Amino acid sequence: MSDYVKELMSEVKSKNPGEPEFHQAVEEVTESLALVFDRHPEYRTAKVLERIIEPERIISFRVPWVDDQGEIHINKGYRIEMNSAIGPYKGGLRFHPSVNLGILKFLAFEQVFKNSLTTLPMGGGKGGSDFDPKGKSDLKIMRFCQAFMSELFRHIGPNTDVPAGDIGVGGREIGYLFGQYKKLRNEFTGVLTGKGINWGGSLIRPEATGYGSVYFAAEMLQTKGETLEGKICLVSGSGNVAQYTIEKILDLGGKVVTASDSNGYIYDEAGINKEKLKFIMDLKNVRRVRIKEYTDKYKSAVYAELNPKDDFNPLWNHKAHCAFPSATQNEINGKDAYNLLNNGVKVVSEGANMPTTLDGVKVFLDNKILYGPGKAANAGGVAVSGLEMAQNSMRLPWIRSEVDERLKLIMKGIHKTCIEMADRFRTPGNYVNGANIGGFLKVADAMIDQGVV
Ligand code: NAP
Repeated sequence: MSDYVKELMSEVKSKNPGEPEFHQAVEEVTESLALVFDRHPEYRTAKVLERIIEPERIISFRVPWVDDQGEIHINKGYRIEMNSAIGPYKGGLRFHPSVNLGILKFLAFEQVFKNSLTTLPMGGGKGGSDFDPKGKSDLKIMRFCQAFMSELFRHIGPNTDVPAGDIGVGGREIGYLFGQYKKLRNEFTGVLTGKGINWGGSLIRPEATGYGSVYFAAEMLQTKGETLEGKICLVSGSGNVAQYTIEKILDLGGKVVTASDSNGYIYDEAGINKEKLKFIMDLKNVRRVRIKEYTDKYKSAVYAELNPKDDFNPLWNHKAHCAFPSATQNEINGKDAYNLLNNGVKVVSEGANMPTTLDGVKVFLDNKILYGPGKAANAGGVAVSGLEMAQNSMRLPWIRSEVDERLKLIMKGIHKTCIEMADRFRTPGNYVNGANIGGFLKVADAMIDQGVV
């Protein structure tokens, strides 16, 4: 670690205590940007990175709501408006009991670079609540979403801040949030993305993050003259990103043998085919139950409970060629990274945000595998959100194939940027440096153009 990185990180840690995920995200980016600052000290003099690290605005609010039995609950609500240099704040909302300021700041920070990489005019933001939607009735979910939006509505808007979904916030929640926004504002605008297809949503938005992460893996493989055909793939998670990651891997001829939720994972040696994927979608999107039930129907699969005391995740310890972490942050540590390599994995494409710890990233980079970090590999979701905003502004929906084509082109473009930036700063094949530098330069130049604001 250079003196510059050490000094900056010590300041970040003392100014933002108790936020380990935020420190981790900043450290990874700062290590890459040190290469840029050596060659271009003007960015350092202008303290651009220091400015990006400090959110433009943090909104923190109370979310009181009443459940079906009349009991009152109080949750925390947040919106981090991180950076608006290249467009309105844009980023998802996460509803999960683990949500706190540090987690949302790491996600908002990552979002700034990711959104810039898409080439679309979107700044970075993130928000959410420590509300746990798991096992709650539709009525409870609706009441909570309405209470959340009753405060958030005054801070967002189609030209200010455009939230979307993330963990625990899917089509159902976006519907309730949008309904309440429309009622309070008395206007129908593209203020949220991930909307229903009949009321302003974009085709391919639900699929976009998962499809994009597989397109990115296919681009990485192509640099070695290979494809996904016949490749065995490990996928974690069973939510939005995991489901469409599995679908696209199958479309491109790969074989998926795992899926998981926060309780455990299934290993299906015979492979999760389209019919089994449909079953997972019903389990998770309609019946909203645990992945364990997969093994009741498909006897070729085994289920293992995750033990939080284990220092590794057994899902990453199976023979495979590719891994698609698509659940949550820090789900691959240094030991998992070695397990993946020892099992033959040569491609990692991150559907989730920061699913690999700094130790794990180092293992991948030292061993020069094809490692696509989340801010590049999972940018397809926000990219199609950007396309949804464009369609809303035009009041014209595009057909499925048009959006999918644009998504493919954007993922291809992000891959190219990563490769070119990594080459330009003499770390060929290092997608982490490529993504961090590529995402940074556009935002940094815009900030310098706009003065110290
Ligand atoms: P989702 O539909 O809510 O699914 C999340 C999945 O991850 C579920 O299977 C969930 O299991 C599992 N999970 C959540 N927390 C976990 C934990 N602590 N340990 C183990 N498993 C856990 O959310 P999603 O939209 O697919 O998001 C997944 C990841 O992709 C997140 O990192 C998110 O930030 C990232 N991402 C999403 C988008 C998007 O467009 N949705 C875009 C870019 C990046 P349970 O059901 O048991 O909780």
